[in-house]
Amino acid sequence: MTPADYVGRFAPSPTGQLHFGSLLAAMASYCDARKAQGLWHVRIDDIDPPRSIPNAPKHFSHTLKSYGFIWDGPLQLQSSHTKLYLSKLEQLNQQLQLFICGCSRADLTGHKLYPGHCTKKHNDKSAVAHRLASSDRETAVRVIVNKSVSFTDLIQGQQHCRPSIDFGDTIVLRKDDLFSYALACAVDDANGVSRVVRGADLLSSTAVQLAIMKLLGLNPPEYAHIPVVLNRDKQKLSKQTLAQAIDDMPVVPTLLHAWRLLGQQAIDAANIDAFWRTAIENWELDRVPKLSQLDETL
Ligand SMILES: [Zn+2]
Repeated sequence: MTPADYVGRFAPSPTGQLHFGSLLAAMASYCDARKAQGLWHVRIDDIDPPRSIPNAPKHFSHTLKSYGFIWDGPLQLQSSHTKLYLSKLEQLNQQLQLFICGCSRADLTGHKLYPGHCTKKHNDKSAVAHRLASSDRETAVRVIVNKSVSFTDLIQGQQHCRPSIDFGDTIVLRKDDLFSYALACAVDDANGVSRVVRGADLLSSTAVQLAIMKLLGLNPPEYAHIPVVLNRDKQKLSKQTLAQAIDDMPVVPTLLHAWRLLGQQAIDAANIDAFWRTAIENWELDRVPKLSQLDETL
């Protein structure tokens, strides 16, 4: 990959403030892109307004700047891409890859994967087109994903996922008319991003996203999934586990702590600018621990 071809991104969901786990993902994707002299974008995956914190773009932008991140172009918002997502669903419907699912929560209870109740019955192009154009609040739209997906993750190694075991027919439009994360993320990442560096908690959704890209004839990026940070109680850092916002942490020590957890060679930095200069110069993706989880206290 030549420098001009490298486009990386950090794409947090605005369900809570940025925490230490977010910082690791931001740092790894930023260093990897900048070391390759590539572009680095920030995209806020705000397609689920009911679960979003208020003023997320302003908060995230302020936090990332206070940690010294500099991104290319304007802050991107998935909420401004809805026309694009709809056009991709219309394309999938033309390819007879969508069906209407009226299953209730009870219908799906006890099933790890979608059991296929509606697949055959409601795979009707004009009915799906009607559902895409109008809301009924009672049905969702799913995409048929029936082929295995294999890819090589640059950190986690070879992955092979089978639809009957690892994922089923996936929701692309929810009952509440919101586009699913799998669809939005697949469409956006295939739209010019060359390498996705993110947390290993998203490794399992990568196969579905790759399957959607393939159906749409889009070029997939490369993937590198870094280990997910666990707190003292061995829980993933998140809003639900009351992860502390990095806004409330001392910037340089927190950057150095994240750097260490990413397995990078020891560096010293007196200030934020010095940290990033040294970090980008010394970044080595190969040094990131080939684990899916890491202890925060290491
Ligand atoms: Zn169903």
